Amino acid sequence: MDYKALADLLFPGVTDTPEMLEERFPLRNCPEGAVITRMAPSPTGFVHLGNLVQGLISERMAHQSGGVLFLRVEDTDAKREVPGAVEVLIDTLKHYGIAFDEGASHSGDFGDYGPYRQRQRAGLYHVFAKKLVEEGKAYPCFCTEEELTAMREQQEANKENFGYYGKYAIWRDRAIEDIKAQIADGKPWVLRFRSEGSIENQFKFDDVVKGKLTITENDIDHVLLKSDGIPTYHFAHAVDDHLMRTTHVVRGDEWMATLPFHIQLFKALGFKLPKYVHIGPLMKMDGNSKRKLSKRKDPELALTFYKAEGFPVAAVYEYIMTLLNSNYEDWRRANPTAPATDFPFSAKKLNPAGNLFDYAKLTDVSKNVIAMMDAETVYDLLTEWAKEFDADFAEKLERDPAYTKSILAIGRGGKKPRKDIAVWTEAKAYMGFFYDEYLEKPVFDEKFSADTVKTVLAKFLEKFDIADDSSAWFDKVKAITEEIGFTTDMKAYKADPTAFPGTVADVSTFIRQAVTGKTNSPDLYTVMQILGCDRTVARIKAVMETL
Ligand code: GLU
Repeated sequence: MDYKALADLLFPGVTDTPEMLEERFPLRNCPEGAVITRMAPSPTGFVHLGNLVQGLISERMAHQSGGVLFLRVEDTDAKREVPGAVEVLIDTLKHYGIAFDEGASHSGDFGDYGPYRQRQRAGLYHVFAKKLVEEGKAYPCFCTEEELTAMREQQEANKENFGYYGKYAIWRDRAIEDIKAQIADGKPWVLRFRSEGSIENQFKFDDVVKGKLTITENDIDHVLLKSDGIPTYHFAHAVDDHLMRTTHVVRGDEWMATLPFHIQLFKALGFKLPKYVHIGPLMKMDGNSKRKLSKRKDPELALTFYKAEGFPVAAVYEYIMTLLNSNYEDWRRANPTAPATDFPFSAKKLNPAGNLFDYAKLTDVSKNVIAMMDAETVYDLLTEWAKEFDADFAEKLERDPAYTKSILAIGRGGKKPRKDIAVWTEAKAYMGFFYDEYLEKPVFDEKFSADTVKTVLAKFLEKFDIADDSSAWFDKVKAITEEIGFTTDMKAYKADPTAFPGTVADVSTFIRQAVTGKTNSPDLYTVMQILGCDRTVARIKAVMETL
């Protein structure tokens, strides 16, 4: 067979050569050991936690080593593409702080190794496709859908492996005249790889995460170019990661199945094989068993979920780090205020079996992360969230920023900061009472008569002085407790609750409820200081009127 003639027949318009492309995209000038890697998502409109995990791993590997992280949009599957999905993708990754050094962006692509959207790279793939044909390593296949279905049915009936191989590879060695005739007839064709592999053979392979593997060779003549000339994932992966000079491919381990083919393809093309970092799936407990997080069943798989719930980016980041590297939590304990990026991340420490996603743990991590923030940061993040998801609350928060910040400063900064908020959706319940519009009418414990409550409130108002320090303030609360025959001796009360009509805790609760509408609030003395004398008094008086 005259492969040169076949290549010219299939790709008459291709004049560039692989050598020209090698020159156009030279090896990168990076320090020894620098990781060049990428995120290569498909723009389906759905950005999930798995994308973020992969993104964070790639980002850490690249930037920790002085390398490069780029964003490549894998848009070869036009059927799955949703309009605006690329923008959603870019925005979401940006929201999570993944900074790309090159790649697709809103205002076009930036970087010297583009284009970074696969549909714009068709010409590049064809250069290498032509080379493979010239070398007898690829050939056109004119099989129709019906023929391929029949082939599959026969394989099923014979209990044989599925795929286009061996005697099923009917176009593999066809005469050029047959091919010419089909082309002259305008028949569509796909370009297939001519596999020289055999499933009888195995070889050793080292994956950064999975470790040493024994791999069986690929014997299937997979499709390289679809009938519209657009490459399959496999071919695009080889050409793009070679020309973009990727050193490490970080991707989901669902690609392990076709890894033998990828290795074979890189070899056939004369490309240096990158290192592979195959990451396991994210799983969750479902009853007593583990299963993969599913797009259909688990809303928490979508990244939009975390944004709407109001998890700060830093919390999601922190949680993912605890998932990825088991020594992260110890490091964090030793470095409570260091930026997460100071942690020496190691891809080798990734769990080959994947990770169990634990929502309760994420919430807990988020509580700690928010507790460590200063009031200014909490103000910024909370108002940003509220503007998007609770405009009414945002309006209250922003009405008097200094006031809101003084609320958010409660219990912050000390050795043991308060952990009141895990997600921004909880903030309103926690602090809403500071805004008169959200103040709820208190419901007092029925154990106590309205008169008792009213007496306590009246006495409190008599003695109340906003200038008191917290111990003078509390002494007054204790004095009222004794005046009405309740006890301040909590020990004695615990030993025999029937001996007392109530305690100082009950008295405090009456006052707390009158001022905040709730039985639980941050430190009541501080609450009153923030509300100020007039509002505190007005709130108590208003409640007294209802009693
Ligand atoms: N577009 C592929 C995916 O979304 C990329 C896999 C890769 O990173 O190579 O799974």
